[in-house]
Amino acid sequence: MHDLVIRNATVHAGSGTPGISADIAIDGDRIVAVGQIDEDAIEHLDASGLVAAPGFIDVHSHDDFQVLTEPDVTHNVLQGITTVIVGNCGFGAAPSDAAQVQMKAIQEVDSTFKLWAGYSGYLEAVDQNPPSLNVAALVGHHTVRRAAMGGVEKRAPTPDELATMRKMVAEGMEAGAVGLSTGLVYEPGRYSETSEVVAVAEEVAARSGIYVSHMRNEGDGLLDAVRETIGIGSSAGCGVEISHHKAVGAENWGKVTQSLGLIEAAQADGMDVTADQYPYTARSTMLFALVQNGTFGSGSGGAMGRSSPDEVLLCSVPGASGLEGRTLQSFVEEWDLPGEDAANRLLSEHGNEVLVAAFGMDEGDVRMVMAHPSTMIGTDGLDRGSKPHPRAWGTYPRILGKYVREEGILSLEDAIWRMSGFPAKKFSLKDRGAIRPGAFADIVLFDPKTVIDSATFEDPRNGPDGIPHVIVNGKFVVKDGKHTHARAGRALHRADS
Ligand SMILES: [Zn+2]
Repeated sequence: MHDLVIRNATVHAGSGTPGISADIAIDGDRIVAVGQIDEDAIEHLDASGLVAAPGFIDVHSHDDFQVLTEPDVTHNVLQGITTVIVGNCGFGAAPSDAAQVQMKAIQEVDSTFKLWAGYSGYLEAVDQNPPSLNVAALVGHHTVRRAAMGGVEKRAPTPDELATMRKMVAEGMEAGAVGLSTGLVYEPGRYSETSEVVAVAEEVAARSGIYVSHMRNEGDGLLDAVRETIGIGSSAGCGVEISHHKAVGAENWGKVTQSLGLIEAAQADGMDVTADQYPYTARSTMLFALVQNGTFGSGSGGAMGRSSPDEVLLCSVPGASGLEGRTLQSFVEEWDLPGEDAANRLLSEHGNEVLVAAFGMDEGDVRMVMAHPSTMIGTDGLDRGSKPHPRAWGTYPRILGKYVREEGILSLEDAIWRMSGFPAKKFSLKDRGAIRPGAFADIVLFDPKTVIDSATFEDPRNGPDGIPHVIVNGKFVVKDGKHTHARAGRALHRADS
């Protein structure tokens, strides 16, 4: 007698092979059989007409704190995500006191948080108060730098400070973190020289982790930034993941042809270099960071590319939610100020935590990056304010509905690979991202004919259509399209740790 048998599904293994018609048997938290299952079960699910795929692994999550403060993480599980990899763009969860300062801009920081010791303490906190999905963590470079140097310092670390940073990274890796992330456009990571990043990445390389980077430049300097990123992995001796691969600013459109070429060249040299992407032409970030990087200044724009004020939407304005959804252009007109001055006035009145969505990418580039075999999928979601970028709710169904079914950019089996087996392999998550006997029962069931995102920039907090069931470690977290509130997740550790 099995615990659960899913019958008549089109089963995708997550390895890029086409689906097969089969049943899936689950005992406890594991898949025990795939094929024709005659044995009876306590619970049955008729999945006729549905695809069963490995639960999606969001390689680019910023929900480090949200998995603890809002353990339902509804925006994730409704779209079929069963594992998030947190700690991206340099924003890591430990040491916890530095993390609470560093995260303020992108996460709701709860002052009642108990402090945790290092990444071992963070992963324990996840296990003690489990969310509805699994959590794996990257060590964040900003957070260890801030902790080791006592704040945002616009200089290189002293040898002692660098040794402290290395120790913190080593602790994270020993605790089971999957790698190290940087965000070299943000404070304080932007003040790091390449050699500092190589030094901390060596602690990761020594423990078979990977180097993940929001690169120093995604605009005019994109190609040099890709070279720096690959060079850091090469010098330290570890694999590389380029975060949210894109070219920002109209003058840089088309450069992804060359950045993809650099990835191909590194792969041909035997390096493990891959990337991730969210399927939209708008990015989302702190307004402060856009100003600091020259997005609204004169010239061709800096590290984050150019956007005009009418391309910028306010997502989250702490204490002034009535402003959310307005464009920067509306303030330019109201105050009769240039874009940068209007942005600075917003920051001085409402603080540096203002989050925005900013258009500035080319749809052709998005498709080209998506179709390239180096690309996996991640949300980069920031579910804050009343108008968050819709990627927090819509990334996976948008890939499956718009880019697979409607536009044919990817085949279904290829898209599923980029959402499950590929990230599990890259981030060393054992027995995840696969439907086969022995794998953990993280499964998403969706209707390939109807699956689609419904989150928009105007109305972003909408779950998808066509994803009726999501299973995490053998338990339904979404059933018949509704969150069950099951807290079935756990902390995941790098496979060899
Ligand atoms: Zn980023």
